[in-house]
Amino acid sequence: MRFEILTIFPGFFTGIFENGILRRALAEGLVTVGVHDLRDFTHDRHRTVDDRPFGGGEGMVLKPEPLAEALATLGIAPKSERAATDRQAATSQQAGNELDSGSDLYQGMTLVVPHKLPNKPGALAPEGNPTEQISSLRPRVILLSAQGRPFTQALARELAATEHVVLICGRYEGVDERINQLYCDMELSIGDYVLSGGELAAAVVVDATMRLLPGVLGNEASGDFESFGVADAEIAAAEDGVPRSQHGSGGLLDYPHYTRPAEFGGLRVPETLLNGDHAEIRRWRREQQLRKTLANRPDLLAGATLSNEDRKLLEAIRGGTGLSK
Ligand code: SAH
Repeated sequence: MRFEILTIFPGFFTGIFENGILRRALAEGLVTVGVHDLRDFTHDRHRTVDDRPFGGGEGMVLKPEPLAEALATLGIAPKSERAATDRQAATSQQAGNELDSGSDLYQGMTLVVPHKLPNKPGALAPEGNPTEQISSLRPRVILLSAQGRPFTQALARELAATEHVVLICGRYEGVDERINQLYCDMELSIGDYVLSGGELAAAVVVDATMRLLPGVLGNEASGDFESFGVADAEIAAAEDGVPRSQHGSGGLLDYPHYTRPAEFGGLRVPETLLNGDHAEIRRWRREQQLRKTLANRPDLLAGATLSNEDRKLLEAIRGGTGLSK
């Protein structure tokens, strides 16, 4: 998978991906990140990337021309042209031909089979639908913006199933809206607050997405068992038969984790976790997930995949009982 980041502060990304699993993923070539300085696409002496807003008001706005030129250099056409190329490619593939690799859109891109992710609801259409297969290869152009739709784990899973993601970092008051209209597939916000630039947000999107790529996390399924993960029913069948001490989170928050020593600061690790009974540990962890979600993010419960047992537990927790304190 390849990320391209368009920014006026390329130096921001120095060091940011040089730790932990992301560093390893980059070193192993599971993912590549290209950082592009918008000032390289200006033509005046001052390398101007911003200008005053039409209509007056505070601040400056990122000019459209350097962004459009940077996108063109990356082979990204305006949305309208990309849609036409997709249609052409779909038609030629339907006719049994190779992808239209001669078109501008695919020039310089390595066409590879979409990543096989074990769990990616809604990310890829069933096999045999050429339009959707191409859409996983098609670059996704994303504008980081406080006005965007919220970035979620589900969206990270969808992005992880695409080959090429372009992230546009705004600064000042933002980016000239015509860039959004002409080029961007979506506006993404990482939360309900205003940052001084899109760079931090882009780093968040890269981090959350690339850790979901096959081979990046030590255990490929571990993304299923953490906060916002998928439900049990969606977890790869290959794992069945192995006694698991956790459920797929099904959209809930994670349960609390403990390590040695068994007693710390006067607090003992819950006995259930020490007794080695996988079924009991699974039940305890599920209850903790429900408790934590109810306490910190009750809004997630409506969209979570809950079993009948979960619902009963939730009622018991709400009623002040439950398996454990
Ligand atoms: N005038 C804008 C804020 C501009 S902040 C507004 O009121 O919505 C400057 C840049 O920071 C934005 O263009 C965007 O790229 C980035 N940014 C700010 N907050 C963000 C958020 N919550 N998520 C993603 N990007 C954000």
